[in-house]
Amino acid sequence: MATIVQFQHVYKSFGDHEALKNIDITFQEGETTVILGPSGSGKSTLLRCINLLEQPERGQLTIAGTTIQLDKPIVKKDKLAIRQSTAMVFQSFNLFPHMKVLENVIEGPVTVLKQSRAQAVEKGKTLLHKVGLEHKMDSYPSQLSGGQQQRVAIARALAMEPQFLLFDEPTSALDPELEGEVLRVLQDLAEEDKSMIIVTHNLNFARRVADRILFLENGEILFDGTTDAFFEHNNNERIQAFIQAMQ
Ligand code: ADP
Ligand code: MG
Repeated sequence: MATIVQFQHVYKSFGDHEALKNIDITFQEGETTVILGPSGSGKSTLLRCINLLEQPERGQLTIAGTTIQLDKPIVKKDKLAIRQSTAMVFQSFNLFPHMKVLENVIEGPVTVLKQSRAQAVEKGKTLLHKVGLEHKMDSYPSQLSGGQQQRVAIARALAMEPQFLLFDEPTSALDPELEGEVLRVLQDLAEEDKSMIIVTHNLNFARRVADRILFLENGEILFDGTTDAFFEHNNNERIQAFIQAMQ
């Protein structure tokens, strides 16, 4: 399998707080990784460093063949290449409120990927169909439920044809009855072997979809292994306590 995201000796601080400490990690193409860990452990920071929403101050990052040294200014071309090889779905959907659903989905492909409008529309409709919302393409985000909005956000991320999809607690702003429809879309994507990294607190979902689990605490990776090893064969007391507290 091709390696497409690699962190080597990566550090990220906010003031004197070290949010990520010496992170060494490789993500493979086709894998679904779930990141677990207590609040404040660095999960969002790790995701945000992958697409350079945050820039770590030390270490080396390789994505899709582009390697950058993080202690130096990043050249614009490399930053763009890295940004375009990933797409992030946020907790709060972040749709453009003044644009209809289909317009939200085609905006990036037209302006950033320079696709023709006709091509972007065709692809956008296919993606909305995939998330079960083709019939809502002419609605505004405010006319949709939270679960529907998040499914549009997923279609919009897919439209950018990223090598990696990043999800930061994609269902934590949703009522429990709307969570399932979003998790089903994620599960479909995992079954298609899309490359995904998902931060979630939903352990049942993690158990179902993850090929691999990372457990973070205090900016360090406490566990990196298979889902089965995490849930069934783990003798780390801290992790056992975390699993118990979440159930
Ligand atoms: P998680 O997603 O696991 O809850 P975060 O990655 O958001 O954790 O945060 C890790 C640590 O870094 C926390 O202590 C948090 O307060 C701090 N942190 C994150 N983002 C910022 C920021 N922009 N400014 C200052 N501190 C931050
Ligand atoms: Mg977070």
